[in-house]
Amino acid sequence: MIDTAASTHDTWDGVDLHTLADRLGTPLYVYSASAIRDRVSSLQTALRGTDHLICFAVKANPNRGVLAFMHSQGVGADIVSAGELWRARQAGIPAEHIVFSGVGKSEAEIAEALRQGVLRFNVESHDELLLLQHIAQAQSVVARAAVRINPDVDALTHAKISTGKAENKFGVSIEEARRWFAQRDALSHVQLDGLHVHIGSQILSLEPFRQALQRVAALWRELVGQGHPIASIDVGGGLGVCYREGHDRPIDAAAYVALVREALAGFEGRLLFEPGRYLVGEAGVLLTRVIRLKQGNERTFLVIDAAMNDLARPSLYDAWHDIAPVAGDARSMISYDIVGPVCETGDTFAKARALPACAPGELLMIRSVGAYGASMASTYNSRPLAAEVLVDAGRYAVVRQRQSFEDMVAGEQPANHWETA
Ligand SMILES: *Cc1c(COP(=O)(O)O)cnc(C)c1O
Repeated sequence: MIDTAASTHDTWDGVDLHTLADRLGTPLYVYSASAIRDRVSSLQTALRGTDHLICFAVKANPNRGVLAFMHSQGVGADIVSAGELWRARQAGIPAEHIVFSGVGKSEAEIAEALRQGVLRFNVESHDELLLLQHIAQAQSVVARAAVRINPDVDALTHAKISTGKAENKFGVSIEEARRWFAQRDALSHVQLDGLHVHIGSQILSLEPFRQALQRVAALWRELVGQGHPIASIDVGGGLGVCYREGHDRPIDAAAYVALVREALAGFEGRLLFEPGRYLVGEAGVLLTRVIRLKQGNERTFLVIDAAMNDLARPSLYDAWHDIAPVAGDARSMISYDIVGPVCETGDTFAKARALPACAPGELLMIRSVGAYGASMASTYNSRPLAAEVLVDAGRYAVVRQRQSFEDMVAGEQPANHWETA
């Protein structure tokens, strides 16, 4: 939970939100460094005395300023593309603090990550394992690898962010993982000595984690019994956050870590964690202004200057985000459909949402947008990407300038140069 004393509605991590919006414009992403720091330290504290590395899932918030801040907190990176590798390195994160996940790593991406010396590849298919062996041999290096297990458990989350069921594209079955280890000697340039599991996102109960970890633990014990040393177990990410006050009850970090320790009791290698949403989700708010009120036949629309291109989660997953006026004065409540300017009916942030009566120009905050917010943004409807700012105990630093029209069309050109192929 974000410290409410430091973050009333008018301020966020000690910075006045009205001033920020006046200076930097809206829509504006605002991330609290204090909130991120609290989340990192809640995990680090619970993990004290255990060999571990927290690798932030870059896709949740790849802003270079955010990644540099993560690095300053001793956090590494979990990447899923060469672009994320590049961003992480630019932000100062050393290769030995980077793990590479994903079902579709290309030959070029694997080669680049190997050249840079990433800590570990989380391998998701036999084809990828053979490709990794081939590329490592060509580079005369030994790649460290973990097999991503698909434990076939239901993460009890939204279907589009569930990854650990047998029907999902991620990871391999336990039987297949066994075969990889049985044939380990054939891998001259891959050190297969890790296990990895990531069952999904926005998980609000310990039970799915317990089931997945029990299956991984059983496999680890079995493999060690067969003489296959396991140097690292990566337990993935997936810890949920609060999107709806009084409704979502996130798991306590200490309880989660206790569960991991219990399930993997006796494991003496390194534990890797890949939280994304948990570290940054609640730290972020999206500031937006009311453009106008529109009275429909049946509904009152509150048209705001943020849209689905800025924050896709409501249109993509029907996700709920708490929305509130920044000015917290008492007013009568009205039921609004809160919509953006984009020409899609799906550009709706909330339906029949009770909000204090709003006037045009009113500053609102959409909460819990620090993860999968700016990172999923597009310029649909030719709306330039929003600015992003990091705030920290009364100070702020812009970590992304608002995109200009020129930046938005960079790389586009008229078809002046025709070639044949
Ligand atoms: C997306 C992802 C994560 C992070 O998920 P969160 O729910 O944001 O914690 C971690 N590991 C892998 C492999 C992922 O794909």
